[in-house]
Amino acid sequence: MNLILLGPPGAGKGTQAKRLQDEHGLAQISTGDMLRAEVASGSPIGREAKAIMEAGQLVPDAMITAMLANRLQAADCANGFILDGFPRTVPQAEALDTMLGSLGLELDAVIELKVDDAALVERIAGRFTCKSCGAGYHDQFRKPKVEGVCDACGGTEFVRRSDDRRETVSARLDAYHRQTAPLLPYYAAKGRLKTVDGMADMDSVSRSIAAVLNGKG
Ligand code: ADP
Ligand code: AMP
Repeated sequence: MNLILLGPPGAGKGTQAKRLQDEHGLAQISTGDMLRAEVASGSPIGREAKAIMEAGQLVPDAMITAMLANRLQAADCANGFILDGFPRTVPQAEALDTMLGSLGLELDAVIELKVDDAALVERIAGRFTCKSCGAGYHDQFRKPKVEGVCDACGGTEFVRRSDDRRETVSARLDAYHRQTAPLLPYYAAKGRLKTVDGMADMDSVSRSIAAVLNGKG
């Protein structure tokens, strides 16, 4: 099964992608995570991407599509994959169509997580992750069971993304509305788009996604 989770920053794509990865053995492919790893390693891609990401803008299409081409052929994609944060522009979606065609693969569904901008600002501002295993949390909506201790790995160090500051969030939302939202009619025209209410709590969103995947949504 090959899926795209589409939605603005903070919509819950990473949260739901991790659940789908665990339940269905799919590979979660987050271009944001891939870029943050490049930035952390100080690679040429990372050096070019860093300032763009901190400004809340999108990195060039060619950089992203080159990164993706190899990733889709990795062994963990054998059962399928969930694209989280890619594609983000129409040229990226067209490049993906070409890549999938040459690999003999197809998209099963493009699932839009629909969330109001005001809720997104709250979700992004409260987001933090475990430094050792990357498990995602939120100050209000998903606290660790024991304060200061990761539920998944017992880690005690947490990190917040530098682009999750309130000042950067409006630039990221603007990029979504201008550059990424045109993908909704793009995939609707292909008959692939399913929309889920992303304003609901995490478990309800997971149930709505499961219904879509079972053909009942
Ligand atoms: P994205 O990957 O789309 O940017 P995340 O999955 O990282 O979004 O979610 C953003 C923040 O909102 C995280 O802190 C997460 O714990 C929280 N979150 C995710 N889904 C929900 C939800 N349905 N209700 C409330 N908070 C949520
Ligand atoms: P994310 O983790 O998906 O919120 O992405 C963080 C940042 O990485 C974005 O604000 C962009 O600067 C960059 N980025 C991630 N994925 C893409 C993409 N598909 N196209 C362009 N830029 C991207």
